[in-house]
Amino acid sequence: MTIAATLGYPRIGPRRELKTALEAFWAGRLDQAGLQSTAAALRAGARAVQQGSGINHVPSGDFALYDHVLETACAFGLVPAGYGWSGEGPVSLATMFALARGARGTAAERAAGIPGDAVALEMTKWFDTNYHYMVPRLSAAMRPRLIDNRWARALREGLQHGTRTRPVLLGPVSLLLLSKTEDGSHPLDLLPALLPAYADALRYLAEASAAWVQIDEPCLVTDLPPGAADAYRIAFRALAEAAPGLKLLLTTYFEGLRDNLALAASLPVAGLHVDLVRAPAQLPDVLAALPRDRWLSLGVVDGRNVWRTDLRAALAQLRQAEAAGFAKRLMVAPSCSLLHVPHSVAMETALDPALQRRLAFANEKLKEVATLARAVDEGERAVAAVFEDSDRALAEARADARLHDAAVAARLSAVTPAMERRASPYPRRADVQAARLGLPDLPVTSIGSWPQTAEVRSLRARRARGEIDGAAYDAEMERLTAEAVRWQDEIGVDVLVHGEFERNDMVKYFGEQLAGYAFTKQGWVQSYGSRCVAPPIIWADVARPAPMTVRWSAFAQSLTDKPMKGMLTGPVTMLQWSFVRTDIPRETVCRQIALAIRDEVADLEAAGIPIVQIDEPAFREGLPLREADRADYLRWAVACFRLSASAVRDDTQIHTHMCYAEFNDIIESIAAMDADVISIETARSDMELLQAFAVFDYPNEIGPGVWDIHSPRVPPAEEMARLAERAAARIPRRRLWLNPDCGCKTRGWAEVKPAMANLVAAARRLRAEA
Ligand code: GLN
Ligand code: ZN
Repeated sequence: MTIAATLGYPRIGPRRELKTALEAFWAGRLDQAGLQSTAAALRAGARAVQQGSGINHVPSGDFALYDHVLETACAFGLVPAGYGWSGEGPVSLATMFALARGARGTAAERAAGIPGDAVALEMTKWFDTNYHYMVPRLSAAMRPRLIDNRWARALREGLQHGTRTRPVLLGPVSLLLLSKTEDGSHPLDLLPALLPAYADALRYLAEASAAWVQIDEPCLVTDLPPGAADAYRIAFRALAEAAPGLKLLLTTYFEGLRDNLALAASLPVAGLHVDLVRAPAQLPDVLAALPRDRWLSLGVVDGRNVWRTDLRAALAQLRQAEAAGFAKRLMVAPSCSLLHVPHSVAMETALDPALQRRLAFANEKLKEVATLARAVDEGERAVAAVFEDSDRALAEARADARLHDAAVAARLSAVTPAMERRASPYPRRADVQAARLGLPDLPVTSIGSWPQTAEVRSLRARRARGEIDGAAYDAEMERLTAEAVRWQDEIGVDVLVHGEFERNDMVKYFGEQLAGYAFTKQGWVQSYGSRCVAPPIIWADVARPAPMTVRWSAFAQSLTDKPMKGMLTGPVTMLQWSFVRTDIPRETVCRQIALAIRDEVADLEAAGIPIVQIDEPAFREGLPLREADRADYLRWAVACFRLSASAVRDDTQIHTHMCYAEFNDIIESIAAMDADVISIETARSDMELLQAFAVFDYPNEIGPGVWDIHSPRVPPAEEMARLAERAAARIPRRRLWLNPDCGCKTRGWAEVKPAMANLVAAARRLRAEA
């Protein structure tokens, strides 16, 4: 029988129950038992939905209170000193949450012996997704062992409710490769010590009567570092020997195996899962490489996007595997864990009905998987109605005239290379901009948003509930904007911002005004911990029916003689933080957005706005996992940014902003974007990270953040001046700006006002000394 399987299920809960419970627990309003019972109910609900949908292999152990990488590290005792863990016994929730979020100074932390200054582990993106995991911090002296038998517990929990689940473990090699060391050792050095701990976990699972165990090794789709291939061979030999009765499913996702295919196919496991959504072309190679005594799990349902599956096309892939000799050893699955999609389309009440019919979130994908498994075994006739409905939905989508806007197509085909280039090179632009703007040495600016206070949020909520009308809401926003402009003028900021009070979110605000975007009501996806995002859906050609920001920027500019900076979200970020249609290339969608932004930039210029910032915080996130694919992405991402930015005169200054500072490997592309000014995050690195710009001899202007806005601390003027001096040691001073690291929307005025005043004071001091 063909097996219908899932690799993982969303854990935040259909109504974000986990978020609510976690935040109540952290606030002391819910005790540990209450948190655990919410978690257990979510797991029970997930098992019921998956089983009820016809999934044969329901995962367990994929649930995590905060993050599965962190929980795996904790389960194996990979916990650094300084977080209250004695080295024996289970890791307390207080310790785990201190690792996740840093110490908060609570009584529970003090009771658990956690120092008040314990900082959170580093957090980083889970491969190329928008999920963020906690990076385990390792040292060679650690003695890994199984201190929390979480997988056996999860298995037993399912068994008690009548389900033999498939435990999911993040594999030992990926766990180590995703970690960092704090003592200069190599993370893989810990492998020999870690394997017995994994072996114990597997033995306990065998004892608890597990049949299959899913071992996730997503690092197998990446360019492996030296030593990793051997690590895989050693690791899987040990795992296979640990519990010979268990069937191990080696699971890969997010890319094709490519040059690691032979390695993956050679490992002593019962089965291999491959991602056929991201890498459909790998199927023939996988079929040729995988020994016929292995099971093959085909990820044919997209676990990363929200569209219904073309069931007939997916079935054709499955039939290919059947014909190649895997008929008796075939599994159907989503491409990856369903963690990356929302729970259920059924919860949406306000989507365009035609669009809604084309969507499949986690629950709908489960049914697709089950249908496909049945179709393999019983033939399409057995599931004819479902297949026909899938065909119809696809045909409707193809025939939907609203997907294509002839004007957008015409504009795209008329784009010339000249449209992706400013009229003059940077040095010439810098001269005319200097003449127009008359800015002092080390100009002071900010990244865009001022605090989104309780007042702002409540105004937005009241507007959403219809308690105030649009005019009243806008009047309040104008009042807040005017206050912010006056304050910036008073303290002596050189380039002002209007404050972005009117924006709910930097993508949503624009998406809501663009054609081609749709928004869900409950389409929440976990970003990290309790934090969720509801990415918009780009389903049709993107166009800008009318100006989006001009009235706010023009209003703000009318209140001051200083230059006002217009504030836009860039095309790459608008793409990257959305679910994107798949009927046309991502590059094309990005170009459509770029044209819409281009029009907005031109309108801002025409309205007298002398500076426009096009934020691209997600520029780096789009980088493909494999080195070999990066140049192509960078080519079109840079071109899209330039297309959005190049419609203006030489004396209009274009800024961009990125909320990080790792630029070593992409500095050439950053320079190729040719923004007149780029602001980046550097305060925490003590300007070390500016080195990439210095070494490359970055030609345009840079605003390295001198105030870490992620911390509530208000840095004194001396500290910001010292950081600016460190920056000036690397970048010629005439090309330096002074600004915070990022937007201030999450900060309060009590911090922002003194910090900005200190920033202005720092600039004045440095100017006076010059
Ligand atoms: N202009 C945006 C803001 O200040 C930029 C946010 C970001 O970089 N993520 O809020
Ligand atoms: Zn930022």
